[in-house]
Order: sequence, then structure tokens, then C-alpha cells
Amino acid sequence: MATLYIVGTPIGNLEDVTLRALRILKEVDVILCEDTRVTLKLLSRYEIVGKQLATYNEQDSGMTTEKIVGWLEEGKNVALVSDAGTPGISDPGTMLVQKVREVLPEMKIESVPGPSALTAALSIAGVPVHDFVFLGFLPHKKGRETLFKEIAESERTMIFYESPHRILKALESLQKFAPTKKVTIARELTKIYEQIIPGTAEELLKYFETNSDKVRGEFVVIIS
Ligand code: SAM
Repeated sequence: MATLYIVGTPIGNLEDVTLRALRILKEVDVILCEDTRVTLKLLSRYEIVGKQLATYNEQDSGMTTEKIVGWLEEGKNVALVSDAGTPGISDPGTMLVQKVREVLPEMKIESVPGPSALTAALSIAGVPVHDFVFLGFLPHKKGRETLFKEIAESERTMIFYESPHRILKALESLQKFAPTKKVTIARELTKIYEQIIPGTAEELLKYFETNSDKVRGEFVVIIS
């Protein structure tokens, strides 16, 4: 019987990969990648060569899912990875798992846990994490204002992912709706320029104004 493995991969530092993840990636018949070029960097770092790679993203037509289901039915072991971190966490994965559970209820689906920017950020932010809400990426338009109002009123720690193009916009909204909240930005986690920057939204906006070179890379925003 085949297995579908959902495999966590590094969020920057290529050393952050488990021994089990490497063994599974070495052993499976097919590796489904968000972007094969990104996954190839990880594979070549660990001398995993000659694997069958296929691109999987959830915007693709149902054909891809059908093909994957077909491979599993044929007894092929398949691993899914995303470009970084844990598949399904603001990345492709959920729809595939749902589909396989639906059409092949007996199929083994195993988690091969690894890093995620969510847990990495929370583990070093120094904010209460016994009870938090993860918002993924915020909507650009519909529901955005309501969400910022919810963030302002919440007693729980709130956490979201943001791109460098929108980080200042997000801070401006936090300044407007939640001016007294503590905001912690986790930037470039596990990479050379990793940073934790705490402050109010206003203080962080000032920081990025004077350090415009820091408005790049990858960001996790935590409001507590
Ligand atoms: N699946 C990934 C995970 O488990 O964290 C998340 C993928 S999502 C498409 C990409 C977003 O995750 C980035 O825009 C950023 O908000 C966050 N992220 C990923 N890597 C990061 C890093 N090294 N440092 C800070 N944030 C990161």
C-alpha cells in the first residue's frame, strides 16, 4: 500500500530538515513540489539525485489531483513539499489531502513534521503563546478592516504572514486600529539577517522609515 507523505522543509536555513524528511525524500517514487527549482536546491544540498519531481499547486486543474490519486492507486509513494516550511500552512497541500481522504479513504497519509514560520516566530517572540489565533495572509480588500478591528479587540495573541510589499500597509492599519498593541515582527527567520523587532505600530513604522533596507525579506507579524 502506498503512502502520501506531507513533508516539512526549511524556511531559510537548509540545515533545518529532519533526518526522516531526508530519508522519505530519498525513498519516495515522486516528489510533488510547489516549484521544482526551489526543491532541487534542497535535494542537491543533500545529494538526493534522480528523483521524479512534479509541480503541484492548488490553482492547477483537477487533472493534477487525479494524476496524483492515480499514482497512489498504482502503489507509488508520493511526498508533497512546498517551497518553505509546512505544506498546507498558507501553502498548497490542504486540497490534496482532502481529496485523497475523500477518494482513497484507506490510503495512508503521514505527516513528516518540520519547520514553519508560524511556530518559529512564536517560539522566540517573547509574547504569550498559550492561546493564539493564526490568520494566514490577510485579505487585501474584503474583510480587511473588520479583521484589523478584531485584532484590536482581541485578548489573544494574533499572528499573520505578510510580504515585503505590504508590510508597511499592514503597520499603517495597525497604527490606525490598534495603536496601543504590542507588535512584534519576526523577519528573515533562520537566515543571516534574522531579526525580532518589537514595538507599537508607530514605532515600527519609524524604524522602517529610517531602515528602509529592512523592508525586504519575509515577515511574520505578531500582535499581543
Ligand atoms: N508554509 C510556510 C510555513 O510553514 O511557514 C508558509 C508559506 S507562506 C507562502 C510564506 C510566508 O511565510 C512569507 O510571506 C512569510 O510571511 C512567512 N515566512 C516564510 N519563511 C519565513 C522566514 N524565514 N521568516 C519570516 N517569515 C517567513
